[in-house]
Amino acid sequence: MRTKEQWIEGLSRMKRNLYHGGEKIGRDNEEFLPSFNVMGATFELATHPDYEELLTATSHLTGEKINRFCHIHQNTDDLHKKQDMTRALCQYVGGCVQRCMGIDAANAIYTVSYEADKQNGGATQYHENFKKWLERFQREDLVGCCAQTDVKGDRMLRPHQQPDPDQYVHVVEKNKDGIIVRGAKLHISEAAIADEILVVPTRALLEQDKDYAVSFAVPGDWDGVKQLVTIHNYRKRNYFPKGFDAGSSDSYVIFDDVFVPWERVFLCGENRHGGILALLFALFHRHSYSGCKPALGDLMLGTCALAADANGITKAKHVHTKFAEIIKVTELGYAAGFTASSLGKPEVYMPGAGFAPYGPGNYIPHSIFCNVGRCLTGEAVFHEMEMLADISGGVPATFPYEGEFVNPETAEIARKYTTRSSMMSPENQAQLWRHVGDLACSAKGGIANFGALHGGGSPRMEEIAITTQYDIEARREIVRRIAGMTKD
Ligand SMILES: Cc1cc2nc3c(=O)[nH]c(=O)nc-3n(C[C@H](O)[C@H](O)[C@H](O)COP(=O)(O)OP(=O)(O)OC[C@H]3O[C@@H](n4cnc5c(N)ncnc54)[C@H](O)[C@@H]3O)c2cc1C
Repeated sequence: MRTKEQWIEGLSRMKRNLYHGGEKIGRDNEEFLPSFNVMGATFELATHPDYEELLTATSHLTGEKINRFCHIHQNTDDLHKKQDMTRALCQYVGGCVQRCMGIDAANAIYTVSYEADKQNGGATQYHENFKKWLERFQREDLVGCCAQTDVKGDRMLRPHQQPDPDQYVHVVEKNKDGIIVRGAKLHISEAAIADEILVVPTRALLEQDKDYAVSFAVPGDWDGVKQLVTIHNYRKRNYFPKGFDAGSSDSYVIFDDVFVPWERVFLCGENRHGGILALLFALFHRHSYSGCKPALGDLMLGTCALAADANGITKAKHVHTKFAEIIKVTELGYAAGFTASSLGKPEVYMPGAGFAPYGPGNYIPHSIFCNVGRCLTGEAVFHEMEMLADISGGVPATFPYEGEFVNPETAEIARKYTTRSSMMSPENQAQLWRHVGDLACSAKGGIANFGALHGGGSPRMEEIAITTQYDIEARREIVRRIAGMTKD
């Protein structure tokens, strides 16, 4: 396994293909330092005695100890540990830990590449290709990101119906050495600081869409790959540093006629499997959310409780109601993920056929429980922010800058007029409101909320998964019996 420093050193050797604010930047740009803190924790804590058991696993390919973010789930215990690892790490870094996209894409591709080969009767070697890629991914402890979301153009048109064929990433040429792909994947978290970009389709695909059924992996600086990067950091602190300074980045990843050799291609043209791969990545990713969203709930509850303390309103009834609401959503989301882990099997839901064996034996979390948990907690994110705003009052929105607390002309009045409860020191109150401002009133805070709502698919996509997979007819039958009805 690598150290944080070895990972950063690897990044510094990558080619410059990041575009940021009108300039081409290197991966050693200091704007990335807060992002390094977050991703770096996934390396640092893997050898920490309190976290090691959650953060490491035994590779089913080599028998070696690996970082769990590179692991393929082999049993329900692995699913539980992935959920608990995600919650623990998100608590540690104070938000999204940013490395789950790689593990989720790897698990989805591992499963689907096997089934595609089986259906192709030995004509393709996607699964063997992927296993070779995975072995290196695990051995070198690489960071993967997942590029799923396409531009998508007109949402009501399928990929092959779009006036511009490049609205979804697609294959433009195949030859004996590999394929050439064109298009763009959007909002790709940490693509700028990932070693590898894993590409999967974004939606169900028809036969006419088969050029869009493509999955592959390339290094983040591969020839022809350009990234338009947005970096999300909190306002820089000069005098009163945060306890943990977190950052993140997202990229528009452009594939400008990119050549991908066959050994890095894991699906090419199998439209049905392409659709399943899209759903399966979303499923594994929604399972990750059953770890990260409860952590966001933990962080929100702690923030609301401290804000209530600072305002002296901790005993107020409306504050308790809000605490209870956050706890309910947090632990129901966790419970849904726990159940999804416990009921995990090497099976997926097939429309019309129900749950059926799928893949080479790796474990897949239960779809209904992943989706209900993700949908419940994701939709609560903006409401929880509203509760924080209510408890806080207006203070985080207009809190004076740090400089006013150190300038001799203003330090005393700044301290006097920002202090509320006598039960919390003025210094702690100031740190708290700076923190709440970061979460609720900053660009980074706003971006995190959009990610929390839309990551893994918009809420509607989760509702579709829930209602199409749930046995609503069985519930009709229960009520027909009780009401004394017959089936029409
Ligand atoms: C901070 C952040 C980080 C992200 N990180 C990643 C990442 O790492 N990798 C990745 O692949 N993606 C990532 N995403 C993308 C995320 O998965 C998408 O935003 C999400 O799937 C929604 O897709 P969209 O943004 O294209 O919105 P849309 O899908 O266009 O949704 C907008 C609205 O249109 C509706 N809609 C869409 N299509 C239809 C239709 N056919 N019929 C009716 N209504 C429709 C939706 O329900 C929604 O209400 C990230 C997003 C954010 C905000």
